Amino acid sequence: MDFAIARRRMVEQQIVARGVTDVRVIEAMKNIPRHLFVEVGLQAHAYSDSSLPIGAKQTISQPYMVAAMSAALELQGHERILEVGTGSGYQTALLAKLAKRVYSVERIAILAGRARKVLDQLQLSNVNIKIADGTIGWKDQAPFDGILVAAGSPEIPLSYLEQLDVGGKLVLPVGDRDQQILVRVIRQQDGSFKKEQLMGCRFVPLIGEQGWEDEGNG
Ligand code: SAH
Repeated sequence: MDFAIARRRMVEQQIVARGVTDVRVIEAMKNIPRHLFVEVGLQAHAYSDSSLPIGAKQTISQPYMVAAMSAALELQGHERILEVGTGSGYQTALLAKLAKRVYSVERIAILAGRARKVLDQLQLSNVNIKIADGTIGWKDQAPFDGILVAAGSPEIPLSYLEQLDVGGKLVLPVGDRDQQILVRVIRQQDGSFKKEQLMGCRFVPLIGEQGWEDEGNG
């Protein structure tokens, strides 16, 4: 399997063709070897138009969703970003290329450890990963210019609004346990929050103090 060809096709057919125009997002996705973020047995599917299992009942998000969420942050390169739900680390890698520094929180230690290894292998040194409940954010490092949450929440955790800088953007799925709407919240100069609904989506649940209860099944 030629991963470079598969990757170029992924970017053309799933990302550009569906309307993602952010040149930096497109360039970064052309360069990040997504197959390294899944187990060897699934590498042949790494560039297909879907999410894939990564163990611990979690998934690596669909390429289009990763692109759309990243583009919604409208990054220029100087930003400090909070990511909740490191998972495989693929989205983390993209953010590391698009922003200055990424603070990523994952509640499942084995996933955080694997993600760390791949990010190190790719020499992405501007990423801090913490094993913790990300629903409370990362107070010590706040405020953030962008917050990206890769798991679905019943409502918008207050901690994220508190930890968002003026002009900062929060992108997260909000809704039921198995179906959500991707929402973008922008903190305005006057302290108010502008809220937009971007599209429907399906993420694994955000589990924690300000998210869903752990039912032991994901
Ligand atoms: N962007 C990741 C998505 C992984 S799925 C990828 O593409 O690989 C979502 C991840 O969120 C899972 O790894 C899950 O363990 C994690 N998660 C769920 N609730 C969390 C919480 N409260 N804090 C941190 N991580 C959480």
